[in-house]
Amino acid sequence: MEELISRKYNLEEVNDIAKWILGGVKSTKVLLFKGDLGAGKTTLIKEICYLLGVKDQITSPTYTIVNEYLLPKGDRLYHMDLYRLNSFEEAMEIGIEEMIESGSICIIEWPEIIEDIIVENYITVRIDHLDADRREVFCYFS
Ligand code: ADP
Ligand code: MG
Repeated sequence: MEELISRKYNLEEVNDIAKWILGGVKSTKVLLFKGDLGAGKTTLIKEICYLLGVKDQITSPTYTIVNEYLLPKGDRLYHMDLYRLNSFEEAMEIGIEEMIESGSICIIEWPEIIEDIIVENYITVRIDHLDADRREVFCYFS
């Protein structure tokens, strides 16, 4: 069963929204982020990564596909952007499935191409562009 909750927010409130999402994440390791280009996925994910303890500068994985960060306890966090992948097979070739199954936190922008292999213990976050300085975020907890 899925529970849907939503909130509207501006750029100053991104940190609050990140905390709010993490409050619902608990033991969830896979976070799927959906929304158009420019919706605000990377912006929100950066805040989430910093709250989880990433110390490195976080950059958009648009060109690298996957960025890997170390968390304080030595765990890994993968931030992926699958927008530029053309097929499920391509995602498998670069090891996306292994990353998801590794138990590391995986935060995935444009997850649609691999969504079939995400079956449990994940949350979906969708961001809608309301206007120039306002977004709405919807969370579906699986
Ligand atoms: P995406 O990763 O979804 O393509 P980005 O996170 O790169 O989008 O954000 C695109 C632009 O939207 C950036 O200029 C960012 O500052 C802005 N933005 C993000 N979240 C908000 C918000 N809640 N309100 C206003 N602007 C935002
Ligand atoms: Mg992005």
